[in-house]
Amino acid sequence: MADIIIIGGGIIGLSSAYYLSKQGHQITVIDKGDLTDNCSFGNAGMIVPSHFVPLAAPGMIRQGIRWMFDSKSPFYVKPSLGGGLPAWGLTFLKKSTQRHVEESALPLRDLSLLSKQLFQDLAKEPDFDFELRNNGILAFYKTEKAAEEEAHLAKRAIELGLDMAVLSKAECEALQPKLKLDVLGAVHYRCDAHLYPVKLMQALIKYLEQKGVKIVRNQEVTRMTTNGSQISSVFTGTKEWKADQYILATGSWSPAVAKLLGLNISLMPGKGYSFMEDEPQQRMSIPALLCEARVAITPMNGQIRYGGTMEIAKINSQVNMNRVEGIVASVPKYFPDLTPAVPALKDIWYGFRPSSPDGLPYIGRSPKLNNLVVATGHGMMGLSLGPATGLLVSQLVSGQRPEIDIQAFLPQR
Ligand SMILES: Cc1cc2nc3c(=O)[nH]c(=O)nc-3n(C[C@H](O)[C@H](O)[C@H](O)COP(=O)(O)OP(=O)(O)OC[C@H]3O[C@@H](n4cnc5c(N)ncnc54)[C@H](O)[C@@H]3O)c2cc1C
Repeated sequence: MADIIIIGGGIIGLSSAYYLSKQGHQITVIDKGDLTDNCSFGNAGMIVPSHFVPLAAPGMIRQGIRWMFDSKSPFYVKPSLGGGLPAWGLTFLKKSTQRHVEESALPLRDLSLLSKQLFQDLAKEPDFDFELRNNGILAFYKTEKAAEEEAHLAKRAIELGLDMAVLSKAECEALQPKLKLDVLGAVHYRCDAHLYPVKLMQALIKYLEQKGVKIVRNQEVTRMTTNGSQISSVFTGTKEWKADQYILATGSWSPAVAKLLGLNISLMPGKGYSFMEDEPQQRMSIPALLCEARVAITPMNGQIRYGGTMEIAKINSQVNMNRVEGIVASVPKYFPDLTPAVPALKDIWYGFRPSSPDGLPYIGRSPKLNNLVVATGHGMMGLSLGPATGLLVSQLVSGQRPEIDIQAFLPQR
């Protein structure tokens, strides 16, 4: 059995620790935070086999440019000549093709379905109640254009063996009779699920600590040394840590951490916001995606979580109220009776989606350092893909054949 250091205690690092600990390895997770609030806590909690189309897709550039000029829009790229943006943007541009969408569909579907199955297994374990619900997700649209796009997506999804159905407004109303709708219709992504991320993360931390996994909080990895083909040590300040194998799972900070090893990982933070509101009437049982507004609404913890926006920019702690107001304003346009208030600054959560330029995660052994496994870049789907990534990491570390083909996800692709 090996000594393993996992850098980063988000859903990807903790899921890796979970499957590695099942194999009996000695594991240390090091995180620069206190593991109460990284990107894996405040997200929309959606488990999304429906998302087999990567962010880099035809039409995204045109739509993105239009959104750039609207301060309340759900997508924004802050122009910059530094921070890796030009190279990232170039790859994004190159990959926004139908061919890339087609090539990504099967790998993403397989990774997602594996992850969803692993969530079902996890939910059966004692102390793992994280409110997993298999009601699917309703993607609501108000315009003919979005209806057409969604119908096209549903057709392709069904070809891929995913359970989806195009519903009329009346059929949507029948599913949640107490919720008033102002929409044309929706696609019901029946293959999807949702959960409460805070409970999931807390359950994972508790389980891992009970199993003897050492979780080191508030210690930032600031230096790493190699002996050519292997990592020999990592340092948090002056403290040196050694292991046989290392996992890089540092989310949006991955380019900076990889740089400590002389490696290049192309990735930009995609900042998003969320906030919770009480909903005592519990009118919504199926999470909603508002297609035109790009807003996600999820019932969880007896409340509703509203989330959205994607700001591609350097990591920063600024809250852009315009964009939060954009989320708030979009909700009653679809649900006339759902009127969230603009949240106070202290109630607004934000996180950074680790976004690769081609929209696929990086999962695989480093071609340069043979005791390093990279697991990052999950973008909009990191929660959803967490368990499958963790399982694959454990199989790579143990020299086992990965459960699914990971060619599309290799860091050196
Ligand atoms: C608004 C919003 C909604 C979302 N909704 C969904 C959804 O519904 N479904 C879904 O699947 N995904 C969703 N996502 C995306 C998902 O949350 C992320 O993809 C996922 O949380 C990324 O997990 P991670 O473990 O890679 O990164 P993180 O959770 O960010 O964890 C990385 C960790 O690495 C640590 N770290 C960084 N640098 C160092 C260092 N030098 N030393 C030590 N530790 C370090 C950080 O402190 C952090 O704890 C959403 C994201 C946002 C913002």
